[in-house]
Amino acid sequence: MSKRKAGLNTTCTHVGAVPDEQFQGAVSPLYMSTSYAYEHVDVKRYPRYFNTPNQEALCRKIAALEHTEAALIFGSGMAAVSTSLLAFLNHGDHVVLSQQSYGGTHSLIKEEFGKYGIDFTFVEGTGVADFEAAIRPETRVLYLETPSNPLLLITDLEAVSKLAADRGLTTLIDNTFASPVNQNPADFGIDVVIHSATKYMGGHSDICAGAVAASREHIDRIFQLAKNLGGSLSDQTTWMLERSLKTLGLRVKAQSENALRLARHLQDHPDVSSVYYPGLESHPGHAIARAQMHGFGGMLSFELAPGIPLEGFVRALKWVRPSMSLAGVESTLTIPTLTSHALLSEADRQRAGIRPNLIRFSAGIEDFEDLSADLDQAIASARKQAGVTPQKEGAV
Ligand SMILES: *Cc1c(COP(=O)(O)O)cnc(C)c1O
Repeated sequence: MSKRKAGLNTTCTHVGAVPDEQFQGAVSPLYMSTSYAYEHVDVKRYPRYFNTPNQEALCRKIAALEHTEAALIFGSGMAAVSTSLLAFLNHGDHVVLSQQSYGGTHSLIKEEFGKYGIDFTFVEGTGVADFEAAIRPETRVLYLETPSNPLLLITDLEAVSKLAADRGLTTLIDNTFASPVNQNPADFGIDVVIHSATKYMGGHSDICAGAVAASREHIDRIFQLAKNLGGSLSDQTTWMLERSLKTLGLRVKAQSENALRLARHLQDHPDVSSVYYPGLESHPGHAIARAQMHGFGGMLSFELAPGIPLEGFVRALKWVRPSMSLAGVESTLTIPTLTSHALLSEADRQRAGIRPNLIRFSAGIEDFEDLSADLDQAIASARKQAGVTPQKEGAV
């Protein structure tokens, strides 16, 4: 065989399985043991937390997908986020994050970090200059999320890793929205790549898990804290996640294609006032997204024209369902003002650019024609209920 590195879908299908040496079955046997013989085992790594046979095999698959040496999996995305941040931050240290970070990450930092004596700055912008301006002598970590939630803003990965290297800082990224299919931050020098595997990696809205991919050295450091905190993933769920990842490449490709086509469709729609999607030439981060992403992802946001009631629109949808989460094979949407950003003050929401008529859409794998027709009929129905006249020429 040639030395060619396996492609994405081959990696998804074959890398990181537990070989079935007894029966040569097609899939990984599931080892449910929480107890293993103590002879010939390094007691520092005895298998239970983060290192059972199924967990270690899955970690190899995730490391291969993220182009890193090693990976760890966790019981939730938040376990991965909290453990990774705390592994690189000590009492007296400071971390810089974007204001656009995931809501749970925001709460973790605002509610818990004070008692460990860890200081933080949330920066308003997502540009490298915004991060640079917030760096202090005590800063140890830059924490990114690109594309961001819910406006899909883009941060330049290469520029941030250069900045971090100059200042001796560690870079962490929440890569959930892009998934390993669309973005591999380690290729641009980012140190630690975090996922809520509950989203694209699981992909069927039935798994809660987290993952971290990084160099062996960084993963060892995170592992030391992880085993003390104990947020390990069950072997049953590990097995399901391995199974889900086999179709990750296919699913995310279909979702990204649907999102791009829907973004273009909505951009031309007379009753849609704005569309936020990094794949659109009109998006401010488009050029950077092109340079650092393989595809633009399955998430987009848009605003209905003034006067079209959101509730009427959501109620009229046939296939697309309202949902708190994202990234499943089924298309879903959420209204950030009512869900993820409901607890922010109106002023904070305005500063973050989140308007009351903003809709965040998670594209599934359905046929594009069914999704676009569903959105069109729901917009028309809401407009009719409200008695609104079309906003632009050529309204349907
Ligand atoms: C959902 C999510 C998380 C948290 O993951 P859980 O698996 O729900 O704990 C973190 N970051 C992003 C971007 C998410 O969407």
